[in-house]
Amino acid sequence: MAELHPKLQAIFEEVTRRNAGETEFHQAVTEVLMSLGPVVAKHPEYADNAVIRRLCEPERQIIFRVPWHDDSGTVQINRGFRVEFNSALGPFKGGLRFHPSVYLGIVKFLGFEQIFKNSLTGLPIGGGKGGSDFDPKGRSDAEVMRFCQSFMTELYRHIGEYTDVPAGDIGVGMREIGYMFGQYKRITNRYESGVFTGKGLTWGGSQVRTEATGYGTVFFVDEILRATGQSFDGKRVVVSGSGNVAIYAIEKVHALGGIVVACSDSGGYVVDDKGIDLDILKEIKEVHRGRIDDYVEARGGTSQFVADRSVWEVPCDIALPCATQNEVSGTDAGLLIESGCRIVAEGANMPCTPEAVKLFDQAGVTFAPGKAVNAGGVATSALEMQQNASRDSWTFDETEERLAEIMRRIHDRCLSTADEYGQPGNYVAGANIAGFIRVADAMLALGLV
Ligand code: NDP
Repeated sequence: MAELHPKLQAIFEEVTRRNAGETEFHQAVTEVLMSLGPVVAKHPEYADNAVIRRLCEPERQIIFRVPWHDDSGTVQINRGFRVEFNSALGPFKGGLRFHPSVYLGIVKFLGFEQIFKNSLTGLPIGGGKGGSDFDPKGRSDAEVMRFCQSFMTELYRHIGEYTDVPAGDIGVGMREIGYMFGQYKRITNRYESGVFTGKGLTWGGSQVRTEATGYGTVFFVDEILRATGQSFDGKRVVVSGSGNVAIYAIEKVHALGGIVVACSDSGGYVVDDKGIDLDILKEIKEVHRGRIDDYVEARGGTSQFVADRSVWEVPCDIALPCATQNEVSGTDAGLLIESGCRIVAEGANMPCTPEAVKLFDQAGVTFAPGKAVNAGGVATSALEMQQNASRDSWTFDETEERLAEIMRRIHDRCLSTADEYGQPGNYVAGANIAGFIRVADAMLALGLV
């Protein structure tokens, strides 16, 4: 930690002491603090008013029991979380994650990242995140519904369209949002569309929200390519994961002329030199909730499944990690660099370890961080809130054009901020500093709250 500005070093030590054992949260905080040295040197008012210390402490943290009956009538108990991190820019906003690995440290890392991401969108949304250690895999629809209803029976009192607006994340898609929104409506007796985003199109959802994070990721990379006079045409792309973000990233890469040759899930990866067949992938993942190895049987001779190995061993020009945190290790980064990969853009939240990021930097690989790259999801959520507030609904094309424009603005703001602070081309510095300044200025304006 020798590189941290002394004032920031003291803050980091306080964060690790007050949040013992929450390693992902420490990692996310370090990554931001590493960028803020030039900012505190130029703007001592942020340190003097303890803005950064306040930013590292959530406004509110809620932890609760979630009891439910499984199909055999046995009582199951999970733990629910909502971390309302910062509301200087607007109501808390961020997804819910259902995955067995969820604990307070994961929710805090995601909530912390969300503050800067939401700020970068330029839209009026604060940062929050939540979830549960519930594992939806292998559970029946009825079990998922009972879990969601129990989860919402506690969470409903903490959320609202002007307070805190959840959405999806790993393990939470439209089905889960439907069950939670339904329970919220039942308990409160209010059809409050703006309390959730990621809703279905017939019950208050927005066009493009399903596609937004994946599409936005690819729009961002398209901007990186344009900035250096290139395009997706003919580029080999590897995407990790095969969930919501991965599927729509693949769709947009193909639409822009690139070819996605591999994708994965937690069981392994498939490689298909002719390009991943998206109809087959969607059928497996969205319709049947199946496993990636089913792809090979459906696709036939051209593809191959590789169990329990890293998808990053597949050579590519562009890598889009779209699965989960810390999925790209130093070893994986070495493989990517060796195979000639020139751009790594994070569709997932914090998928690259600090070691991997350092190696990309040393090798001159362009690296773009999740809080900028995947901001299209939450940006489109904010567009959904706008449509709900005005009882309006926009067409697919209109919404997609707004998403593309927001991603262009985020990209340009990252580059111009990196330039302003003497680090041209550094997307990490640009995203962290630009995201920070907008929130910090709002916090100063709102007084000591
Ligand atoms: P999904 O649940 O739809 O998909 C997650 C995918 O990642 C699945 O294919 C899953 O495989 C795979 N995965 C999860 N854990 C691991 C692991 N340990 N190793 C390998 N693969 C794994 O989630 P999303 O697509 O919504 O989210 C993916 C990432 O994008 C997350 O980091 C999320 O925070 C981030 N994100 C999502 C947004 C959204 O709008 N959905 C917005 C912004 C960021 P398996 O099924 O085998 O577990």
